[in-house]
Amino acid sequence: MGTVYAIANQKGGVGKTTTAVNLAACVAEAGYEALLVDIDPQANATIGLGIGKDEPETIYDVLVGSARVEDAVKPTAIERLSLVPAGPDLAGANVELPRIAGSETRLREALTGVRERYAFVLLDCPPSLGPLTVNALVAADRVIVPVQAEYFALEGLAGLLDTLSLVQRELNPWLTVAGMLLTMHDGRTRLAQDVEREVRQHFPELVFDTVIPRNVRIGEAPSFGKPVIHHDPHCAGADAYFELAKEVAARG
Ligand code: ADP
Ligand code: MG
Repeated sequence: MGTVYAIANQKGGVGKTTTAVNLAACVAEAGYEALLVDIDPQANATIGLGIGKDEPETIYDVLVGSARVEDAVKPTAIERLSLVPAGPDLAGANVELPRIAGSETRLREALTGVRERYAFVLLDCPPSLGPLTVNALVAADRVIVPVQAEYFALEGLAGLLDTLSLVQRELNPWLTVAGMLLTMHDGRTRLAQDVEREVRQHFPELVFDTVIPRNVRIGEAPSFGKPVIHHDPHCAGADAYFELAKEVAARG
């Protein structure tokens, strides 16, 4: 049975979606069956893989119980990589889910039927600690926390770690942190070096060795509906996400 990873940080713009899409593409390229589940109403992961946000069945239908996850899974242009798309209707789930008793486990239950088909299931979370992120943390075995190598990087991490502890205590005792990932790192700046040192000092065991550089190719790949390894396989961004995939697989 595969491992389910939630890519989570309640801050927006830190590289969650970029990491979810590119890590998924790299593990698929390495020969693993992979499933990316987009649980952000902005549907950036869906669009970043070249799929429209008007698919007939989305993660919303799965969460409210009107479709099975098997019916919402779409093949992508990438071999071994499948997607459960999101759409704008997913925003409604933030209101609807809390009204349903026990709805925190919806995604976990939905995934039990398909988990054995994939070595890696990646959940791209929205920028909040609301019901959708909680569903992801309950469904996940491991959490990957992208941290932007900028000032205020550590701001908000305490809130995320509190939510993780709460979910571990109340709903998912198996949940562990796979690692924190420094993203958009510009090695030429003093600031990025300082932030990296500070994050590594605060969380010595948790930070991945791999650092994702700020890279133009990574930023432009979604506009082509492609992960960076298919947009420009030899750029620094593609190399970094390959390294990350190896590190994630090695940590198990
Ligand atoms: P989140 O999902 O956390 O909101 P995104 O992954 O959407 O963040 O990233 C925010 C923006 O930064 C996007 O426009 C994305 O293309 C860009 N971006 C992310 N990582 C990098 C990077 N390593 N280099 C350059 N641009 C990046
Ligand atoms: Mg995102």
